[in-house]
Amino acid sequence: MSIPLDHVAPVRIRVLLVEDEPTIVAPLVEALERETYEVHVVGTGAAALEAANDADLVLLDLGLPDMDGTDVCRSLRAQSDTPIIVLTARGDELDRVLLLELGADDYVVKPFGVRELLARIRAVRRRVNGGRTSKSDAPVAQTIGSLRIDHRTRRVFVDERELMLTPKEFDLLMTLAQDVGAVVRRQQIIEEVWDEHWWGPTKTLDVHIASLRKKLGDPAWISTVRGVGYRFHAPS
Ligand code: CA
Repeated sequence: MSIPLDHVAPVRIRVLLVEDEPTIVAPLVEALERETYEVHVVGTGAAALEAANDADLVLLDLGLPDMDGTDVCRSLRAQSDTPIIVLTARGDELDRVLLLELGADDYVVKPFGVRELLARIRAVRRRVNGGRTSKSDAPVAQTIGSLRIDHRTRRVFVDERELMLTPKEFDLLMTLAQDVGAVVRRQQIIEEVWDEHWWGPTKTLDVHIASLRKKLGDPAWISTVRGVGYRFHAPS
């Protein structure tokens, strides 16, 4: 059973894709346009700085032919609050932290799945729409009772014990914890953690919820709201 989404007026969100590699550009543009984003592609840092003012969100490849991607990121952030998601091939921790310090809102490491990127875009957009438009206000870490979620490193601790979550479990936790105490609908979770076009059995969600509850060590973290979804809160 699928629950219809609340209908919202279609507003075309303008995405600036800064990427010089055609084999990455083509499938990304196709996927973004399918999601009704309006996509503008540039292949250099200089062009990105010129075009960024017209964008609602920037996807920035770090390996550009004319400029160091980190400089582009810093310059983009200096000129506006437009959200930036970095596409990076560099996976080491230092670079990730550095990127976020440079003003990127999030990053994905190549090779990444289109669904993962779409989920990040939605998450960043949601944060912006929630009124946090600048990097300095973006949550870096979140504490809920004895639980601590570090968004930068994607690490989760209960008391001082680190939970070994799979990427999907982490995304599920992020989705549930974005509005502590509020009901998150099953359909919303499925869209954000899996894919908008995901028509698989909703049992997959139940299995992940069960696994996450087990890893949290107390099933009371996640309350089931029958027929609607789930509510995340510290166990009383
Ligand atoms: Ca490149």
